[in-house]
Amino acid sequence: MDPLADPSLSAMNDENISPWYAKGLRFKCTQCGECCTGSGFVWLTLKDIQKLANHLNITVEQFLEQYTYKTQGKITLREDPQTDDCIFLKNRKCTVYANRPKQCRTFPFWPQNLTSKYAWQACKERCEGIDNEEASLTPLHVIQDHLQ
Ligand code: SF4
Ligand code: SF4
Repeated sequence: MDPLADPSLSAMNDENISPWYAKGLRFKCTQCGECCTGSGFVWLTLKDIQKLANHLNITVEQFLEQYTYKTQGKITLREDPQTDDCIFLKNRKCTVYANRPKQCRTFPFWPQNLTSKYAWQACKERCEGIDNEEASLTPLHVIQDHLQ
């Protein structure tokens, strides 16, 4: 039998090729600051470090000393010692928003949030930008760019 002649098999093939979010996902960051609170690591790329140092008008060495530490063999942002929130969160706002790290710019389009609709819905419980009434559709190619 030609498998492509069977519509049910053909549909399965399509599903296997396309991710469940192929038609895009609705998201608009409200800058509520929720994802910047509490414990968790903000891992930094070399580009993040350079951009943040430029943003703060300090050297890379000064930036690393003042705002980061190393753990698990990687560089992460420091936390506020009182709250455990990200060091750059002030009054629930990111003070380096224009040059925030890649990890922050790509949230909530992280691999673990896209494994299934269920995972995406679970993330929505913390992120009010997902399915926000003002959110437009983020197309698949943008989601895929965030995943890289
Ligand atoms: S929790 Fe969502 S809406 Fe709030 S700041 Fe983070 S990404 Fe934006
Ligand atoms: S750098 Fe900005 S966006 Fe990223 S966790 Fe810190 S406060 Fe939030």
